[in-house]
Amino acid sequence: MEKKQFKAESKRLLDIVINSIYTNREIFLRELISNASDAIDKIYYKTLSDSSLIFNKGDYFIKLIPNMEERTLTIRDTGIGMTEAELEENLGVIAKSGSLQFKNENELKDGYDIIGQFGVGFYSAFLVADHVKVITKAFGGDKAFVWESDGVDGYTISEGEKDSFGTDIVLHLKENTEDENFDEYLNEYKLRSLIKKYSDFIRYPIKLDAKKSRLKEGSEDEYEEYIEEEIINSMVPLWRKNKKELTDEDYNNFYFEKRFGFDKPLKHIHISVDGMISYNSIMFIPENTPYDYYTKEYKKGLELYSNGVLIMEKCEELLPDYFGFVKGIVDSQDLSLNISRELLQHDRQLKRIAKNIKNKIKNELESMIKNDREAYEKFYKSFGRQLKYGVYDDFGANKDDLKDLIMFYSSKEKKMVTLNEYIERMPEDQKYIYYASGESNDRIEKMPQTEMVLDKGYEILYFTEDIDEFAIKMLQSYKEKEFKSVSAGDLGIENKEEETKANEENKDLFTGIKEALSGKVKEVKASSRLKKYPVCLSAEGELSIEMEKILNSMPNNEGVKSEKVLEINTGHEVFNSLKNAYSSDKDKFNLYVNLLYNQALLMEGLSIEDPTEFANDICKLMK
Ligand code: ADP
Ligand code: MG
Repeated sequence: MEKKQFKAESKRLLDIVINSIYTNREIFLRELISNASDAIDKIYYKTLSDSSLIFNKGDYFIKLIPNMEERTLTIRDTGIGMTEAELEENLGVIAKSGSLQFKNENELKDGYDIIGQFGVGFYSAFLVADHVKVITKAFGGDKAFVWESDGVDGYTISEGEKDSFGTDIVLHLKENTEDENFDEYLNEYKLRSLIKKYSDFIRYPIKLDAKKSRLKEGSEDEYEEYIEEEIINSMVPLWRKNKKELTDEDYNNFYFEKRFGFDKPLKHIHISVDGMISYNSIMFIPENTPYDYYTKEYKKGLELYSNGVLIMEKCEELLPDYFGFVKGIVDSQDLSLNISRELLQHDRQLKRIAKNIKNKIKNELESMIKNDREAYEKFYKSFGRQLKYGVYDDFGANKDDLKDLIMFYSSKEKKMVTLNEYIERMPEDQKYIYYASGESNDRIEKMPQTEMVLDKGYEILYFTEDIDEFAIKMLQSYKEKEFKSVSAGDLGIENKEEETKANEENKDLFTGIKEALSGKVKEVKASSRLKKYPVCLSAEGELSIEMEKILNSMPNNEGVKSEKVLEINTGHEVFNSLKNAYSSDKDKFNLYVNLLYNQALLMEGLSIEDPTEFANDICKLMK
């Protein structure tokens, strides 16, 4: 028998296929099953156009036959088969559809190292097999042919025996190595799990002989093993079914089967798009944060299918980071099966799908705010931080998509509110959206700086997470209203006249205080915003006191300092004592100034420089 050489190009290509396209060996099964399914499809289409033929569904199936003794795995189909010429063309010339050329072009242009879609799937058989035998008989033909190859050095074609049309692909598995156990592809459970993982939604039944045991007839405790043929795949994917026929439970089961999470999803989004690009998708909004969600370990992405066959378990490109919590699948017949990760990143179809999906998620979340507030609040507890990061990330590039989705705790409502809700009930004379930063709602409630804003009847948003103020700085304003920290120098509601007057009256005293604090504050001034409290700190400039705390709590911090202003309540009793001390007793004055300054630091949640001195100062006061 003459051994034919693969065409030169093919040889190279085969090498590439075997060694570099597929990092994951197990996909060989997906490829061969997909080919088998295509072969059955071809008969099906034939019967559609030829009324003398009938497609009897029961006759068409794919079967996996592992053989331990021979160490072979056979993939059998009852599809259209191949003639001798087709064998030669389809399996002898790799990527005859011009893919090598395609690959070369792309490699030159973009440095892709991988081929897209064109006719290489079959050769993935050599990822696990050292010898492949294809026994095939074409539909309507009378002779069977056998194609055999050990891989790179060529193939033979000869006449063979086969009863009915269709194809058997017989893989002789490679020898096991230290790292790799090829025997596992003979294992019933492994095969089952691979079918479930990659080929669950192939339209035709994929059968496997399952070993089972049963009570022997007539016996009460003796068992016998027997073989039963089982269909492993579920055939019709959930996302191809009609939404109207599906219940919440169907979706929840799917979420669970797919191991998207152990929680019950808060919402599912089921879309079928037909148009320039067609796809189906089912997505879920989970309730709980995965334990690794806010770590580097977490990988976002949706499962990507091409016509029901899994291409990729986590296609990152389909989700923006800020919606990284969404779980689900996308299936499109417009994507090719063995498209590589690198190629996908540039795929225009995929980009279009991703954009579409992003909008769907956004709309769904917005409608939850209106129509299912309870669910949204649960969701926000788990993933609100992610949304706020999203506002901040990429220099605010996505803030417009997210600004309606973020919420903060409100002094007025005592619950989470959206920015839109805040704006809608704002009194007409209110200039800013006020917020206060602090460790917790309780702490913020006690902040001296909130007094005046609250007295005015204005609502304050409480910022208790690190990211909050950074995100809002990125947002700058919402519906043309700027954000204003209650600790900022100028709240826009102070009694300016009163303040100016007090500042002038106490000019010397304030200079004295500033000197006594030797550079710790940038300014000392009278404040009309204080009622109960004698002093507070505010910040001038871009960096707030809260941001200073956050930045300095990071490793490698550069010890940034906000520009602090010591604000003094000139209407407070303590102020009189201070004034008296200033004119009569310098030591006492210094003592009072330090005490008040440290008090202000403590109320801000900042640490005082010298706690021992502070304690001693208090003792002095009590003597
Ligand atoms: P692709 O599936 O992308 O065309 P493959 O390398 O997987 O590329 O297969 C090459 C060709 O071999 C197929 O297009 C098909 O014509 C033929 N072929 C492969 N497997 C079978 C099969 N089980 N039955 C009939 N034809 C097959
Ligand atoms: Mg194929």
